[in-house]
Amino acid sequence: AKSDGRNTARFFDPAMQAVAEHQAALERALHDALSTRQFVLFCQPQFSAAGQLVGAEVLVRWRRANGELLGPDAFIGLAESSGMIVPLGQYVLEESCRALARWRTDCTLGKLELAVNVSAQQLRNDDLASSMAGILRQTGAPAEKLCLELTESVFAENVAAVIERMHALCSLGVHFSLDDFGTGYSSLAYLKRFPLTALKIDRSFVHDVHLDADATSIVEAIIALAHKLKLDIVAEGVEHEAQRAFLVDSGCNTLQGYLLGRPMPMRDFERLYSGAGTG
Ligand code: C2E
Ligand code: CA
Ligand code: CA
Ligand code: CA
Repeated sequence: AKSDGRNTARFFDPAMQAVAEHQAALERALHDALSTRQFVLFCQPQFSAAGQLVGAEVLVRWRRANGELLGPDAFIGLAESSGMIVPLGQYVLEESCRALARWRTDCTLGKLELAVNVSAQQLRNDDLASSMAGILRQTGAPAEKLCLELTESVFAENVAAVIERMHALCSLGVHFSLDDFGTGYSSLAYLKRFPLTALKIDRSFVHDVHLDADATSIVEAIIALAHKLKLDIVAEGVEHEAQRAFLVDSGCNTLQGYLLGRPMPMRDFERLYSGAGTG
């Protein structure tokens, strides 16, 4: 901070310095959080259009040493910029596979699929296919029950390498859905080249689907496209009955949202749904 001029002055601005120090402290805490097992997995149920429980999305939370529970929006960005997302993502995959293995013998849980968010960086920086193979082997999880959710940010660079890695993962038996569809880089031309089984309509479109003609047309277009490409369509952020009804009528396969179930600690999810089916 030797150079003169505005940037130097700003560096010593106490407010800016406080922000920088807070970020640095958070980053150190984030690093320790993994070894002290402060990350907890939540599950949000997913239902078929007919209303049957078909799976859950895994959503990570950070229970800090002071008891505070942080949502991913407070730390995933930092985890990505610090590289921590790779070991954190690995941990989330391991815990998810442990759950799938545990659920095998349960008449309800054993049928469910788990959707796990995978950051573009995990796919880029980590040898994800070999670590995934190791996790599947160690846990004994049924790979076909694991769905990896990617966002359109994977379209941003080196598409050929991404597709190759996805194929390597597919050959292990896992499958992919494209999350937050409609918000990012998606090129319709690329869509066909990726080995995907589902598109997940972003909740910003779902939000207005029963109110706004533009949102209605966008959702109808996405569903038509998905059907044309033989992809399932998952709607997230379903909060109102009118949204649910519209989405089901439009041909949406799977629904997720506060109307149907909130994210809850994985143990609560297991207690709530285990053995609940008719087998
Ligand atoms: P996402 O993948 O789009 O996850 C859905 C988010 O929508 C979750 O927020 C969920 O709690 C919230 N949500 C679910 N139903 C409703 C609803 O009806 N209304 C509204 N308003 N919101 C709803 P959450 O748990 O805060 O997660 C935020 C984001 O953090 C996720 O967005 C995902 O991108 C990321 N994330 C979560 N867990 C992981 C993870 O293990 N790894 C990575 N890389 N990212 C994660
Ligand atoms: Ca997701
Ligand atoms: Ca999403
Ligand atoms: Ca989202």
